[in-house]
Amino acid sequence: MRLRKIKDAKERLCQDNNKYFINDLDNLKGKFPNIFNNSNPIHIEIGCGKGKFIVENAIRHPEINFIAVEKFDSVLLRCLEKALNYDLNNLKLINVDALELGTYFKEKSIDVIYLNFSDPWPKRHHAKRRLTSPTFLEIYKKILKDDGAIYQKTDNRILFAYSLESISNNGFSISNISLDLHKDLLNENNKLENIETEYEEKFGVNGPIYRLEARKVLNND
Ligand code: SAM
Repeated sequence: MRLRKIKDAKERLCQDNNKYFINDLDNLKGKFPNIFNNSNPIHIEIGCGKGKFIVENAIRHPEINFIAVEKFDSVLLRCLEKALNYDLNNLKLINVDALELGTYFKEKSIDVIYLNFSDPWPKRHHAKRRLTSPTFLEIYKKILKDDGAIYQKTDNRILFAYSLESISNNGFSISNISLDLHKDLLNENNKLENIETEYEEKFGVNGPIYRLEARKVLNND
């Protein structure tokens, strides 16, 4: 997501000690993400961008705790500004690279990971940066509960093809594949709730949206 760099974004994320942005992640190491004072499921969006998806989810689902993960502070600031329009007790924002999630999050603590319109990194020598590369999948495997799931949406066919292969070769089983999500949603038997992201709203009209669900393959030994 291209966005002008905001010089004082980090300070503004901490503005008025708002209840959404978590600045002292280091102090929460090992405890995180059990910070909600309840035992509700925890869903995280990695690369939340400007936050439309996760803020709307948190409004619609008070029975779920949400954590927005974004590596660029200037982008996360836009998410905070949206959240500040509401009084939500089930949403937190963190400014970290997904590569660090394993050091902050407890093992088997997350119910759902959303990967919405992740950067495709089309060049082969950048493949390691794709959020469905084996390095990231190892981290997700650690922090996801045994019955946890990854939900991926993308408009990028090449990233989707890469993800299908990478996810299934790295200890996950894939289900509920859609090759045209918006069309499938028109089917009256489709009960999926689709909250559109900023990116989806803007580019979803240009071609199909691909979607998959992935769950850990458990070893019974
Ligand atoms: N999910 C939003 C949407 O659908 O509108 C934003 C999509 S945007 C194309 C991808 C976002 O992922 C960017 O804001 C980018 O900064 C973030 N991102 C990319 N790699 C990341 C990483 N390793 N850790 C955290 N965020 C990342």
